[in-house]
Amino acid sequence: MTLSIAQGKCMGHGRCYAVAPDLLSDDEEGFVAQAGQDLDVPAELVGQAQDAAGACPEYAITFTRS
Ligand code: SF4
Repeated sequence: MTLSIAQGKCMGHGRCYAVAPDLLSDDEEGFVAQAGQDLDVPAELVGQAQDAAGACPEYAITFTRS
């Protein structure tokens, strides 16, 4: 299971790392620090991953179960 954070879409709204603090964090300017990364999601963090994908108003975050 993968959480993909698109490069260049983040506008720094801060919702994703608020709902998924064990997967995501902010950089010094409030943008998601994992932009451009594909993160492996352990089973216990699926809920956070789903919440993060649903929380981003810029559609920058995609959760894939495969
Ligand atoms: S919710 Fe979206 S726009 Fe806001 S910090 Fe996260 S990736 Fe960026």
